[in-house]
Amino acid sequence: MSEYAVAVDLGGTQLRAALVDAQANILLREEVKTAAQAGPDVVVGQIVELVNAVLRQCTDKLILGIGISSPGPLDTKKGIALSLPTISGFTEYPLGAELRLRLPYAVQLENDGIAAAIGEWKFGAGVGFQNVVFVTVSTGIGGGVIVDGHVMRGRRGMAGHVGHMAVVQNGARCNCGNTGCIEAYAAGPAFTARARARAAIEKTLLAKDCESRDVFAAAKMGDDLAVSMVQEEAHYLAMGFTSLLHLYSPDVLIMGGGLSNEFGMLHPLIDTYVQDNAMAAFKSVPIVKAKLGGNAGLVGASRLVFEGI
Ligand SMILES: [Zn+2]
Repeated sequence: MSEYAVAVDLGGTQLRAALVDAQANILLREEVKTAAQAGPDVVVGQIVELVNAVLRQCTDKLILGIGISSPGPLDTKKGIALSLPTISGFTEYPLGAELRLRLPYAVQLENDGIAAAIGEWKFGAGVGFQNVVFVTVSTGIGGGVIVDGHVMRGRRGMAGHVGHMAVVQNGARCNCGNTGCIEAYAAGPAFTARARARAAIEKTLLAKDCESRDVFAAAKMGDDLAVSMVQEEAHYLAMGFTSLLHLYSPDVLIMGGGLSNEFGMLHPLIDTYVQDNAMAAFKSVPIVKAKLGGNAGLVGASRLVFEGI
């Protein structure tokens, strides 16, 4: 009899649950908007409801367990959400214990960046490698690291918060409380905020309420401001990526998240920076686009169940 996992991807805006098979096919999917301001009891209720909605549709199937990808920082060893910046009320909250009380199968929790890294490692752009760095560039910047064929979790399971490497001295305040983090410069909201501020005062095709994709579209048309915005974005990302190459010596560095939709434009600029700045022995490490798109977290959460990793 085939075996299945239920995977949950808890995000700041969307909450998704899916039935995933051992080959990482997503067979059923349920989705709601996360009640991000309603407090942990409501959000846990949403998770339970969504998982049960999936389970009701597959009563004939052998379910091995439930894997959950959650924003961090999350102490995955104790199952405690420490302070989730995107969902209110999750401060020192026993997420694992609450879910185990209310769900009918074994529950495994993972920080979302690590879950997505596992997904890409096992079924995406990292297949076949022993050393993988995954970076997602979206509303925030997160990631996860695979070293010597093992998931790097670190103290309390919180390793791999790659978005909070500082790249600017006395820089902008980050959501995490630090200043100058790469997330505060290269994540989607920071990118569009800079573009909008400059569009208000410079000659450009860009509107004052432009979105990220508008900036890339205008850059393709040769708009000077948009081109310089894309170059600046690539520069920030490449600063971070170069540090990650030096830190972890990956076989491959994978970029995912919404901004990776523009990988074709960003990659040559990132590569130029790496060629100019990385140590010689690291210049040839491939930097590639993620393959699983928005499903990386669900696939990774399902591997927690199938492989116990
Ligand atoms: Zn930060």
